[in-house]
Amino acid sequence: MDKVTIQNLKCTKHSNKNVQFIQVNDTINQQDSNKPLFYCSSCFNHDLQFKSMNYLMIDQILQEADKMIIPKWPPVNDFQIISDLIDFTSNQSQFDYVKQITDFFDQFKQEFQAKIDIIQKKMINEALKYPIDSNQIIKRYQEISNILQFQQLLSNQQANSLLEHSSLCKQFIAKSEFQKDKNTELLSNLLTQANQLQANFNLEYPNIIKQQLFTFIDQISFFNEDIAQVRQNQSNSNIQLANISNQNINSEFKLTSELLVKLISNKSNFCSDEFINELNQSLQNLNPLLQCYRFHTIFKENKEPIDFSKISEQRLNLIENYVKHSINLASDSQYENEVKNSLEIKQINQIINSKMSFLKNELIQEFEKFLVDVKPFLKQINFTNSITDQNKFDLFRNLQDENLNDLFQMAKKGLFYFSQQLFVTEFANSQNNCRVKKNKNADYEIEKLNQNSYVNCISSINLQKDLKYVFRIQVESINEGNEFMIGLMRNSNADSKNGYEENLSCFLKNINQSIMKDNGYSCGIYKDLKGNEFKISRNKMIEMRVYLKEQILEVVDYPNYEFKLGLEDQYKQKLTQYDDLRFYVGLFNQGIKIVLKDAEIVNEFRN
Ligand SMILES: [Zn+2]
Repeated sequence: MDKVTIQNLKCTKHSNKNVQFIQVNDTINQQDSNKPLFYCSSCFNHDLQFKSMNYLMIDQILQEADKMIIPKWPPVNDFQIISDLIDFTSNQSQFDYVKQITDFFDQFKQEFQAKIDIIQKKMINEALKYPIDSNQIIKRYQEISNILQFQQLLSNQQANSLLEHSSLCKQFIAKSEFQKDKNTELLSNLLTQANQLQANFNLEYPNIIKQQLFTFIDQISFFNEDIAQVRQNQSNSNIQLANISNQNINSEFKLTSELLVKLISNKSNFCSDEFINELNQSLQNLNPLLQCYRFHTIFKENKEPIDFSKISEQRLNLIENYVKHSINLASDSQYENEVKNSLEIKQINQIINSKMSFLKNELIQEFEKFLVDVKPFLKQINFTNSITDQNKFDLFRNLQDENLNDLFQMAKKGLFYFSQQLFVTEFANSQNNCRVKKNKNADYEIEKLNQNSYVNCISSINLQKDLKYVFRIQVESINEGNEFMIGLMRNSNADSKNGYEENLSCFLKNINQSIMKDNGYSCGIYKDLKGNEFKISRNKMIEMRVYLKEQILEVVDYPNYEFKLGLEDQYKQKLTQYDDLRFYVGLFNQGIKIVLKDAEIVNEFRN
């Protein structure tokens, strides 16, 4: 009798059909209905609301449940999960992890073994090149020494007498003795070779490699969780690495390689982008190996690589040139001379060595050294035609020290002379009666134009108490008997008084082509300090000296200094009293022309 199974149960509604489907979903909602749980194919046809989602083929459960995931079972809220699981299990080879791991290790062991075999053979061959074992050494010794021939000779049966033996041996030994040098050399070489391997042999290094390999092998893992844990343990102290920004999910993996790439790609290394990209990719693969290095000690204390990334190409080139330059300077004295002789440095040295720079020697030397040091940067300056007037520059540059002093004396005088102006005051309509102009020698020339009233012609500068002044005038033209005066007057009185009213003047007169003191009319400078009767010829100059602090106001003949007129004592205190005393010339007569030849500040008055 047939065993009763669910498959050969007949449908209650269609008795000629076996049940084929079973409802596995929505059964709770239909508990009270008469709807059958099992369906035959006719039930299925007749059910117009049939939802295939709710039914499972009974056959499928019976035949496939033991080896497959059954769609629609168990009841779940989202059948996509079951559908995905079915997809997963159907793609067998891709997800056979154990097989992948087994394959990896099988292949690994084979390749490892093969690799090691090759190295082993190579090393043995290498070692065999040396005469290492004693047999080889003895064999070589026998070749060199001919000891076996000696042995044969001694045991030679053909020689019958001791004499004959002796002769043969003597011959043999002599021959060998002739080769004493060669024997020494060959045996010495043999010894050297034997020693060489001993010196060259290193068992420690392969052991380190082996240990490292084991360490690496220990780290083999197919599971990211493990790998991350290994990373974690190794890089706990890699604080510096964390400073490197990295948004990548695998940041811990990439850290070491990125740090290396960052170092290598430092702009100052001038590596090409192509190289950096390739290196970056290669190093990322090596990250598990790189973890062995202690990157937290990569930089010296308080130091890190110089960041050139924000520097322009041009500046970077300058820095490059500077570094090369510094290295050459340190190593090549000929180069240093070339630099010193370069146009730029010669030019600047000329400028700083110019007499007019007034730099201390120490500073000049320091500056010259500095220029040699920074020579590459000087290229930024265009030195060609840098000096506006080469002739003047050379003139000053080549001045001797004593000439320089003279020049400064001249300049000092000149500065005072040129800084002052002579002008006619507004006193008594003077400006219409007198003309002041500079002649072709740039000297001031004062000329009285008519016979109208007296004029003051005064300097623009108040004289200082503590300076010694010398004024020199020459009388260009003057009529017989005509008079004029030179001296000091207060600027505050210049527009309101005759200059001589201050009583700080010398009254002079032209008599017979000589300029003489006007006897009988004192306006201050009247006292004969040297010589009798002040008198100088027309072509000489009259010099007035002023030193207010010491109440000196004198008139002398220049350049002979035969006469000297001094200020009368009762007026001397005026010299220290007033602060606005100025040089002036006073004129009466038409046709007088006086030239101010010198106006200078001196260190000492000459006698
Ligand atoms: Zn049925």
